[in-house]
Amino acid sequence: MADVFDTLVGQDRAAASMRQHVQNPVHAYLFTGPVGSSLRDAVLAFAAALQCPERGCGCCEACRLVLEEKDPDVYFAERAGVSWRVDDLREADRVSRRRPLGAGYQIIVIEEVDLTTTGASPSAPALLKSLEEPPTRTIFLLSAEEVPDALETIESRCVEVRLKGLSEDDLESILTREGADVESARMAAIAASGNLRRARVLVRDAALGERISTWRTVPERLTGTPAASAALAGEISAALDRAIAPLQLLQEEELEHRIQDAREMGQRSLSNRKDLEAQFKREQRRFRIDELRFGLTALTNVYRERLAQGLDGLNQGDSRSEYRVGASLQAIDVIVKTNQRLSSNIDETLLLNDLMLSLMEL
Ligand SMILES: [Zn+2]
Repeated sequence: MADVFDTLVGQDRAAASMRQHVQNPVHAYLFTGPVGSSLRDAVLAFAAALQCPERGCGCCEACRLVLEEKDPDVYFAERAGVSWRVDDLREADRVSRRRPLGAGYQIIVIEEVDLTTTGASPSAPALLKSLEEPPTRTIFLLSAEEVPDALETIESRCVEVRLKGLSEDDLESILTREGADVESARMAAIAASGNLRRARVLVRDAALGERISTWRTVPERLTGTPAASAALAGEISAALDRAIAPLQLLQEEELEHRIQDAREMGQRSLSNRKDLEAQFKREQRRFRIDELRFGLTALTNVYRERLAQGLDGLNQGDSRSEYRVGASLQAIDVIVKTNQRLSSNIDETLLLNDLMLSLMEL
């Protein structure tokens, strides 16, 4: 590895800017980027480079400690609830006034910083105050998927590091580098729609191929009886249940890892366990919706192929193709409308039943 930023696949521009900044850093950085663009990885790489005597060699003791989240001078702010409260940030502010123990910087990491503008008592003003005059050797690393207008003043105090969504090729090369075989990496990368976390879950999922074919065979299996369409909806629902399993496994491993870390630091239990579990639940809901959305895309592709065949037939003067073209167009329209109805509080069974019935009637 040439340096620690080389691990950030697909983020060449952000990496170039970080390499430059690490030579002469300012007091606060704001990392932004779409879901799954590996914000945490970028923050850790930058923090490692700040602490490293070689400015991010990626292999020295200083780099290793930061990357394993064990450098006592890199403080990850933790919140007790869903949004950031003033009390949570008071602790971060206190640590930010501390002199670093090592030769590097005192680094304060605050993730999902957009959540300082939400909740009963928004804490953004408190954060702004901390950012105002930090000690010379303190650096804040903030991150958020999106920056709401209300964070404008905070944004203006930071240098922004913008990450981009990852392409299928980026995801594939990250997964193969992490040990996946080329075929599973390719399939997971396509199914992950730019989300690295989702790609990492899918690559562990042996049933992904099976799920794709379940979706793809929907049109030919809609034989016309409501019972058959209900059965198909049930089958897809069960496949979605199974799709969550690898994510749950990954989350359990993460929890175990955090508990172990807490023990090593001399704590008897994990202080933010409840928050972490709530976060896992949210992630599972989001994963299910992504999975459903991905299935709908696979289904759309089947109707697109049918449409293309129908158009070919029409061009060759086959009048029976007219029906096929019309039905495929309507099916695509039904799927688009289903996609629009998707949200975290939708009744999934109802949605799938409606979809199958509408497609059957075409
Ligand atoms: Zn190093």
